[in-house]
Amino acid sequence: MKNERDTNGNCELIYETDGMCTVFEAVVMASSDDGKSPYVVLDRTAFFPGGGGQQCDTGIIEAGSITTEVEKVEIEDGEVRHYVKELIPEGTAVTGKLNAKVRYARMQNHGSEHLISGLIKSLYGYENVGFHMTDEEVVIDTGGPLTYEQLRIVEEKANEAVFENVPFTISFPTAEEAQNLDFRSKIDGLENVRLITVEGYDACACCAPHVYSTGQLGVIKIVSATPHRGGMRLIVTAGMDAYRDYVMLHEDNAKIMKDLSSPRNKTAEYVAELSGRLTSVKAENTELKKELSRMLTESITKQLKDEGGSSAEPFVIFTQALDPVGLRNLVNECTASSDRTICAFLGDDEKGFRYIFAVNAKVSESAGLKGLADDFCEKLSAKGGGSAVMVQGSVSSGRKDIEEFFAKVRKKA
Ligand SMILES: [Zn+2]
Repeated sequence: MKNERDTNGNCELIYETDGMCTVFEAVVMASSDDGKSPYVVLDRTAFFPGGGGQQCDTGIIEAGSITTEVEKVEIEDGEVRHYVKELIPEGTAVTGKLNAKVRYARMQNHGSEHLISGLIKSLYGYENVGFHMTDEEVVIDTGGPLTYEQLRIVEEKANEAVFENVPFTISFPTAEEAQNLDFRSKIDGLENVRLITVEGYDACACCAPHVYSTGQLGVIKIVSATPHRGGMRLIVTAGMDAYRDYVMLHEDNAKIMKDLSSPRNKTAEYVAELSGRLTSVKAENTELKKELSRMLTESITKQLKDEGGSSAEPFVIFTQALDPVGLRNLVNECTASSDRTICAFLGDDEKGFRYIFAVNAKVSESAGLKGLADDFCEKLSAKGGGSAVMVQGSVSSGRKDIEEFFAKVRKKA
């Protein structure tokens, strides 16, 4: 099997056969500008121009005292163009250095995709029907649905493959040879196939660089699995990215452990218990509020009866205990049993107050509720509106100022 994938035969593509090479010596073959940016072409390169779901490499090219950044690498007109900030003359001997950490993390994620996709195909018969990589993870769409248990088996087997340290073998079968081989992505064609094989786990046509063996992938974790177009959308992370994900979750868990004083492996149990307790406390709270509302209404209507008084004389109530519906109910009960103008406030000095002014419809003409509300809004910069029997709104003044306003009203009455 021979590699016939070289672009125009002038550039040795190191990444095709050696994914772990991140520093290399080369000679500049062309130095030009294609309108997009200045670029150089080398006689050999480890910079991957992108493809197969994996982004192109970045890094630097050094030539003596000159160091120029490689911002992008693409194949154009059959040559690998390294788009650089500063041009280096033709014939110069250079050293290329990739952003090795980024390349390695991508290879860890990409390699894990081969294992996961290969295992899903061999165990459950589904193809990988969509694949892309972000900077921290791999997204795989499967051709059919998978249960949590099935995915757990796939994940466990993928990690077993890591510990078995199986080589990633790269081969270049002829179209005839490829015809008789079983591999994923065969549908993309039989010409110029670059086959990546992990014996016992996967064989797939792929153009991207890979690590030497599965041990270099590090831990593999399916972090999310959601139904997607009749199959599943899996988010997978491996190696350093999986380690960082573990650290993040560990720290999150440590915070919960501290708050709940829970053992390390029991946080979910403690949270479930807490959530159950919260539900019963909420139910208790609702009952208590109802009881409180009933008692408050009873006491205020009694007070109204005892005091008597005219409709023009406001009866002021402050409460923090009710919700807006409870406040409305209280006001309705009061106006039903008394002719006084009821001015009820819900809230406190910090958050401000909601208010309801209301009066019994039978005495609304003599009460002058609208006049009182307009005056209130003007003097205390309150907001609100309503009818001759009920006005509602909000005010941000403190309780003291509100009480002073009503003291003056009473004096005038
Ligand atoms: Zn691949």
